[in-house]
Amino acid sequence: MSQAQAPHPADARLQALIADIRHFVRHRWHPLEEQIERDDEIPPAVVQELRDKGYFGWSIPQAHGGLGLSTEELVRCAFELSQASVALRARVGTNTGIGSEALVADGTEAQKQRWLPRMARGELTGCLALTEPDAGSEASNIQTTAHREGDHYVLNGSKRFITNAPLADVFTVIARTGEGSTGSEGLTAFFVERSPGLVTGQPYRKMGQAGSPVSDVHFQDCRVPADQIIGGREGQGFRTVMKVLNKQRLHLAALCTGPAIRMLDLALAHVRQREQFGQPVANFQLVQAMLADSRTEIFAAQSMILEAARARDRGEDVALSASMCKYFASEMCGRVADRAVQMFGGAGYVADFSPIERYFRDVRLFRLYEGTSQIHQLNIAKLMLRESA
Ligand SMILES: Cc1cc2nc3c(=O)[nH]c(=O)nc-3n(C[C@H](O)[C@H](O)[C@H](O)COP(=O)(O)OP(=O)(O)OC[C@H]3O[C@@H](n4cnc5c(N)ncnc54)[C@H](O)[C@@H]3O)c2cc1C
Repeated sequence: MSQAQAPHPADARLQALIADIRHFVRHRWHPLEEQIERDDEIPPAVVQELRDKGYFGWSIPQAHGGLGLSTEELVRCAFELSQASVALRARVGTNTGIGSEALVADGTEAQKQRWLPRMARGELTGCLALTEPDAGSEASNIQTTAHREGDHYVLNGSKRFITNAPLADVFTVIARTGEGSTGSEGLTAFFVERSPGLVTGQPYRKMGQAGSPVSDVHFQDCRVPADQIIGGREGQGFRTVMKVLNKQRLHLAALCTGPAIRMLDLALAHVRQREQFGQPVANFQLVQAMLADSRTEIFAAQSMILEAARARDRGEDVALSASMCKYFASEMCGRVADRAVQMFGGAGYVADFSPIERYFRDVRLFRLYEGTSQIHQLNIAKLMLRESA
């Protein structure tokens, strides 16, 4: 290859990483999926492999021990990593997403140096504790309080539905510091280490995503040093969390696309070998329509996610496009899951005959968390109306 054709070092690094993820997903993870579903746990040796491979540090800057992937590189890796049961990407995904991003975006240099290298190495698992029993779609209705006492804050309240909380070491917590404040004002983001005043509940019994534990988090006079306010200033919590979510919506949209690719691969292989009426069911045009619609929608999702990721890397405001990507990709994945069941017929409904039944349950969550589809529809329309005013 001539000098002019040599790949840019960053491209070569990305290609090597993608090849590594692809190999790990197909040869290491897929054979383990049934076991993880049964045990509801990822074998510790596999978590250690993920640490050794550096998968926990993808989005953390190189200066703080991570790989420092751009948004485009992150979503390209997410397309690959998520062609697997959701537990894989959920295990590393809070460190490469919502669990570290508040520190990356708004943390002080001292905070970044203290926690990010250990998160990048996967020694610490992070999570984002935003949602509460009465603050779901209305995320600003947070009731958890943080009162200042000398050089500490004392946190009281409860969080709900927190991914990785049962195994997390560090928690990005949004709490109300503004006495008597309501809505998004008076909210502050804290970086909290597991301590006696922080109690995580039993992992829930969920519809899907076995191996990815989710639980409540309770704060009972939990004392947090004042220098663990993310960015050092009270009242910035909602702005910080919105920055996190804008990036995360692109990341999650990519993570919704991988399972759709995997389900379509499985469905394509099935319809080519399953014979009815003396021929493969792939020969029937009504089945072909399901293949074509699925492939087209996956391509549309990938295209829009890459376009929005590149815009974010150029420094553009992606609030609208990130919301559209999350809305479209999560709904698309649900449609592909439904068609995959249909193409498998009875074998798609029965776990003994195919993994499609499990995938169908796993991906249902995508349309609910990090903004339900309805909240994204509202957000997209709100931003459109604002643009046109
Ligand atoms: C397994 C799991 C993992 C999660 N992980 C995390 C996590 O790690 N961290 C975290 O902070 N949160 C997490 N969440 C919380 C998740 O983000 C919320 O469940 C989600 O935001 C929806 O809130 P809700 O469940 O209270 O639903 P609700 O807000 O009660 O919504 C119920 C229904 O009403 C609709 N609705 C609500 N308001 C409107 C409106 N204004 N207009 C139209 N329709 C509306 C919704 O779309 C939905 O259909 C997780 C949830 C689950 C189930």
